Amino acid sequence: RLLVEHLQKSFPAAGEPLHVLRDICMEVSGGQSLAIVGPSGSGKSTLLQILGTLDRPDGGTVKVDGEDPFLLDQQQVAHWRNQKVGFIFQDHHLLPHLSVMENVLIPTLAGGRANAPLIERAKELLQAVGLSDRVGHLPGMLSGGERERVAIARALLMSPSLILADEPTGNLDRRTAEAVTEVLQSLQRDNNAILICVTHSETLAAAMDQRHELLDGKLVRS
Ligand code: ATP
Ligand code: MG
Repeated sequence: RLLVEHLQKSFPAAGEPLHVLRDICMEVSGGQSLAIVGPSGSGKSTLLQILGTLDRPDGGTVKVDGEDPFLLDQQQVAHWRNQKVGFIFQDHHLLPHLSVMENVLIPTLAGGRANAPLIERAKELLQAVGLSDRVGHLPGMLSGGERERVAIARALLMSPSLILADEPTGNLDRRTAEAVTEVLQSLQRDNNAILICVTHSETLAAAMDQRHELLDGKLVRS
């Protein structure tokens, strides 16, 4: 379960500080998905970065399965993030010199070596996203939709409780976007994970269980 209470974040700016997140509250249970929509610059990516502990809030609390990751020390928080959070970015952040399989196994690098069960899981995930025949390819040899699916497989490798996706279908045509959404959502449900999707796509937003709009630093259920 994800519980967010009164989250705040400002950035320094010329003159007044920019209050991007003023009072963010949300509650999502395992297996549930939530879309966050809102105008450009409203703070959607900032919110995702904080939920994934890539940035710190100025106030408020985030709890995942009852634990507040911001109370952990630096080393613990890195471990927590690796175990609990799967990120999917619009530009997928695949490493160009690593194969598809190696990219999916990146999360194992932090904890030492990839062991046999994780390699097996990587194979299963690549099969689930329809890329069994591409495991040895380099990202540059893949289409945009295929790369996005590699990013999905990688995000799910460690069986995270929380999947954070920032415009996962932003660069894709409609049909590919729908296929990617379907794979993402079925894996999320199979893993009983929480999925939070930032998107400008109404189709993607409609596929999620809840839809929230980020407006003036607050989330409004819509
Ligand atoms: P988009 O839909 O265009 O991706 P967004 O809703 O994701 O927009 P954010 O990237 O969260 O918006 O940015 C929200 C606001 O905070 C913007 O005005 C941005 O310029 C500002 N901002 C984000 N990160 C920083 C930073 N590190 N330092 C200063 N300002 C920042
Ligand atoms: Mg953004």
